[in-house]
Amino acid sequence: MTERIAVIPGDGIGHEVVPATLRVLDAVVEFEYDHVEAGDAVAERTGEPLPAETLEAVTNADATLFGATGETSADVILPLRDAVDSFVNIRPARTYPGVDAVQPETDLVILRENTEGVYAGMEDRLTEDVSTLTRLVTQSASRRLAEFACDYADSNGHDGFTIAHKNNVMRVTDGLFVDTIREVASERGVDADDAYMDAMATHLAMDPTQYDVIVCPNLAGDVLSDLAAGLVGGLGLLPSANVGSERGIFEPVHGCAPDIAGEGVANPAATIFSAAMLLDFLDYDDEAAAVRTAVETTLAEGPRTPDLGGNATTDEVADAVVDRLS
Ligand code: ATP
Ligand code: MG
Repeated sequence: MTERIAVIPGDGIGHEVVPATLRVLDAVVEFEYDHVEAGDAVAERTGEPLPAETLEAVTNADATLFGATGETSADVILPLRDAVDSFVNIRPARTYPGVDAVQPETDLVILRENTEGVYAGMEDRLTEDVSTLTRLVTQSASRRLAEFACDYADSNGHDGFTIAHKNNVMRVTDGLFVDTIREVASERGVDADDAYMDAMATHLAMDPTQYDVIVCPNLAGDVLSDLAAGLVGGLGLLPSANVGSERGIFEPVHGCAPDIAGEGVANPAATIFSAAMLLDFLDYDDEAAAVRTAVETTLAEGPRTPDLGGNATTDEVADAVVDRLS
C-alpha cells in the first residue's frame, strides 16, 4: 500500500524547508503526496487561512507534513490538530556533534498534552474590568496521555517519565492530572516521578540531564519545549509530532521566519527530523533511522546553514543529506 501524505508548506521558509525535506523522503520511501495550502498567503488571496480542501486532505491522509504559518497560525494548526484528534505533541530536544549548545548534554523528550489545559479556548470578557479563562483538565485526556507516555517510555527504552505540574496551586486541575497519570503508570509498572514546573525550568537550565521524558499540560509543554530549544542550539533543529490514534501531523517547532524567508538559507534539519518522526509513525523504522543518521552526519561534517555558522543554502544541505542516504 502506498501511504498518502498531505503536504502543507504554509508560509515563509515553509516553502523552502518542506520541498527540501520531500527530496530527502523521496530518497527513502515512495509516498503519494497531496499538496495543499494553508496560512497567511492563502488567507490573503481567498480570505480563508485553512481552505476546506486542505482540511479534507489532512483528514484523508495517513500523515501530514507541515511547514510553518505566520499570523494565521492558530487558525490553521489548532483545527488541524483537532481534525486528526491529536492528543499529544511529541517534542524531542537533543544536541548533536558539531552544533554549539548551551547545555551539550541535553537529550530529552517533552510529551505535551495537546487538547485542553488553558489552551481549550474558554475565555470570557465579563465586564470592562474583568476577563476570565477556564482551565479544562479531564480524567479521560490525562489517562490517554498517560497511556501514550507509558507506551512511549517502553518502546523507546526509557525507565519512566517525569510529570511537570503545579498541583500545589492548581489543586483540583493539576491534582487530577498528576493523580490520573500516576495511577496509569502504576498500573502499567512504569516509573513516574513528578516535579513542579517552575522548579523544573531552573533544573532544565542548570542540569537538563536530570530529565529524560517529561509529561506535561499544554501551556507548560509550550514553554518548556522552547526552553529546551534554547539549550540545544536553536530552533532550526527541533522537530515535533502531533499524534492522534490514527493520524499525525509532523512539523518543525520553529515558525515561518519572515526575517530570512526567500533567501534560501533556512536550516531544513528540523523539518527533515520531523519527517523522520513521520516515518517512525508509519513504521518505516529503518528509513527513519537512515534519515536521522544522514542529517546527523551532515550537522557534524557540513555543509551547514548560517544559523549554525555555515554558509550553505537549504538546498545544499538537503543535497548533502540525500547523498549520504545513497
Ligand atoms: P512563530 O510565532 O510562528 O512561532 P516566531 O516568532 O517564534 O514564530 P520563528 O519563525 O520561529 O519565530 O523564528 C525565530 C527566529 O529563529 C528567527 O530569527 C528565524 O530566522 C530563526 N529561525 C527559525 N527557524 C529557522 C530555520 N529553520 N533556520 C534558520 N533560522 C531559523
Ligand atoms: Mg515561536
